[in-house]
Amino acid sequence: MRFLHDTLPQRVRFATGDAAGQLSAEISEAGFERPMVIAADNEKELAVRVTEGLPVAVWHDEVIMHVPADVAARARSVARAHHADVLISIGGGSTTGLAKAIALATGVPIIAVPTTYAGSEATDVWGLTENSAKSTGTDRRVLPRTVVYDAALTLTLPVGMSVASGLNALAHCIDAMWAPRADPINATLAGEGARALNSGLPRIVADPTDLGGREQALQGAYLSAVAFASAGSGLHHKICHVLGGMFDLPHAQTHAVVLPHVLAFNAPAAPEAARRIAAAFDAPSAAAGLASLYTALEAPTALRDHGMPESGIEPAAAAVLAAAPSGNPRQLTSANLNALLRAAWEGEPPR
Ligand code: NAD
Repeated sequence: MRFLHDTLPQRVRFATGDAAGQLSAEISEAGFERPMVIAADNEKELAVRVTEGLPVAVWHDEVIMHVPADVAARARSVARAHHADVLISIGGGSTTGLAKAIALATGVPIIAVPTTYAGSEATDVWGLTENSAKSTGTDRRVLPRTVVYDAALTLTLPVGMSVASGLNALAHCIDAMWAPRADPINATLAGEGARALNSGLPRIVADPTDLGGREQALQGAYLSAVAFASAGSGLHHKICHVLGGMFDLPHAQTHAVVLPHVLAFNAPAAPEAARRIAAAFDAPSAAAGLASLYTALEAPTALRDHGMPESGIEPAAAAVLAAAPSGNPRQLTSANLNALLRAAWEGEPPR
């Protein structure tokens, strides 16, 4: 056995019902005096509650998915004008993404308080969109120094969004099994993440107020993101990156639809990964475990339902082929990528 593994340095405070207390302890312990709080309109009320008593220097609510460059530029100006010494992001991946864009340019540290299962809070990956093209990169400055997880903050996340976001997290786990820097450490984290999500997500669907299910989903989201940050982007992430950039598709739903198709495509050529995924689902095979989870969750199944045009299949397949990750277990061709994308577009069962 031989591998090189980096673990990112980050503090995690997990305390259901106590985000405010944890945030306050973190701010005073570190001696921050001028926090900039980033929260979209939807999450404002929740953010006001969580930051009660903090010496907030400025609030910022212009949050847009995939971080358009002009939105990032305005947020950076606000941070500089108010001499922010820490960024507190309260919201989903879009909000964390905006904080990362500021940190990338200014070096101001981030404390992330996630309210979805996207997992961006535990990665050093940033993303920016300009002229309909999304660029991403990694930089240690964008890794939040601390994450405050409070499952109670996800209670308002609608069931449909909880499912899609949770499957976005599951995609981090599954793709980590064959991504370019896959190794036994991130595979173990990914397996445990998949186990937690497989248990927590059906509980949320059965009862959206089930805090135990929400805690499992958050725990799974964190493990999934740590595994993904370490393993890098595999085939699944390359496909979703291309589709999101080309057609401005909703992030979580795109991941949810594409995932079973990539698993069905790669699993036969990746027996150890398939064994780990099946074990996480406690199912006879990885594909069977994922299929029964999707049925239980009534998960999204077709890209055409989320705004992708049929005419986009061929150009998307060509773009994925050009960006193909190294070392994918199965060889990628124009024909097999076209077939995979067509099945995902139509919502056919994965082959
Ligand atoms: P999002 O942050 O856009 O949130 C989706 C919707 O849910 C929004 O309308 C938001 O206001 C709402 N919402 C969030 N939390 C809520 C709550 N608790 N209650 C009610 N409504 C709530 O979506 P997302 O899927 O969390 O994040 C997607 C973005 O994150 C994409 O831009 C994606 O590229 C990025 N992302 C980045 C990484 C990374 O490692 N850099 C990882 C995953 C996702």
